[in-house]
Amino acid sequence: MSDLREKLFYEKKNGYDRIDTKERLAIEAYCRDYMAWLNVSRTEREAVANAIVQAEEAGFVPYVPGMPLKAGDRVYKSNRGKSLMLAVIGKKSLSEGSVIAGAHVDSPRLDLKQVTMYESDELCFFKTHYYGGLKKYQWVTIPLELHGVVALKSGETVDIVIGREPGEPRFVITDLLPHLAQDQMKKTMAEGITGEGLNILIGSAPYADEGKDRVKLAVMSILHDMYDITEEDFLSAELVAAPAYDVCEIGLDRSMIGGYGHDDRVCAYAELRAIFDVQEPERTCVCLLVDKEEIGSEGVTGMQSAAFECFMSDLCESQGVALRHCFENSFCLSADVTNAFDPNYPEVSEKRSESMLNYGVGVCKFTGARGKYTTSDASAEVVAYIRRLFEREGVLWQMAELGKVDQGGGGTIARFMSKRNIDTIDAGVPVLSMHAPFEVVGKLDCYMIYKGVLAAYLDK
Ligand code: MN
Ligand code: MN
Repeated sequence: MSDLREKLFYEKKNGYDRIDTKERLAIEAYCRDYMAWLNVSRTEREAVANAIVQAEEAGFVPYVPGMPLKAGDRVYKSNRGKSLMLAVIGKKSLSEGSVIAGAHVDSPRLDLKQVTMYESDELCFFKTHYYGGLKKYQWVTIPLELHGVVALKSGETVDIVIGREPGEPRFVITDLLPHLAQDQMKKTMAEGITGEGLNILIGSAPYADEGKDRVKLAVMSILHDMYDITEEDFLSAELVAAPAYDVCEIGLDRSMIGGYGHDDRVCAYAELRAIFDVQEPERTCVCLLVDKEEIGSEGVTGMQSAAFECFMSDLCESQGVALRHCFENSFCLSADVTNAFDPNYPEVSEKRSESMLNYGVGVCKFTGARGKYTTSDASAEVVAYIRRLFEREGVLWQMAELGKVDQGGGGTIARFMSKRNIDTIDAGVPVLSMHAPFEVVGKLDCYMIYKGVLAAYLDK
């Protein structure tokens, strides 16, 4: 390339051409830890519970309203066990703003209905109501495991995990054999498998008596033996079926990671690791692991909930600072995954703008759909700040856009942060097969979002 071209043109470079051996080793070590964490963090509740254990090891203590706080103090607040806020108090006053990184820990999945169990033709099933945007045909004929809680009338809560450990039974949704599928195969992919057709097979052996629903009785009696619950207890349960795939390396070069729930636990884990590395920051650092992003950030544990204001105003009040002044001067990295360009489906992408695997953090100035509808659209100044920060700190990154104009679209928590008068930009890991039961990410990109969040936390 001529000097003039090099000087004037913008050209993306593969991340592997821009790292040294030392960084390559750091990527491997980081990703080993991430894979182990993702393997045991299959729901928002499990991600939050695991994060709390690690946070306490890293010196974080539960925040108690009114507790005195000084620079370097590390506190966390669990919002009903389904979302988590952590903070490391900065040397500067909160009137100068905080540095926030926000990721979500919920992922698309199949929720069990409240009246879920039934027997049909001597087979027993759970009925489901899917959660988040998923392609239903991807969820049949794959092994499923069960996670969640049953809240009892007594006030006690029973934790349930079946199928995660080797040797435990798993579950499945059946599909038609091709021999008899000629009518099904004429349907569109959206219609071939229906929402009410996502019924999970959970048993087939009848109870040894003469009554009705003998298979269901046998299954229910097993659950009663294991957890001391009855069918009525499902009314107040939150149980989800998640893919029973282990997280693993992908490719002969082992450069990628396959697994369920990279969206968005890959960024959640990065934020955790980054805030654990922060000691006495200039500005207060806040790490958010939120729930309900996949269904619009609604609900008391989603980013639209006032739980965030409650936590932040507590921190502000301890310094005599008005929350609105803190928000106005804060910066938020909305760390959420983005679409990676897939050469198998180039028709949905505009290659110049799409993020590529192994090119580093994908920075989305805007998301949305149909002419940038429902996006916060970060200002040019905020993008310039990211350019400055990431270049200075050696964070490999690229611009990202979710597909061709009018091809579809999406959203993140960014718009709910910007509504609070906080400068916000999306930045995250490019994903192949996003929202599938088995998603793929590049190891290099996983590490770079960690580096990116840490750079923001440590910026003066
Ligand atoms: Mn996401
Ligand atoms: Mn998503």
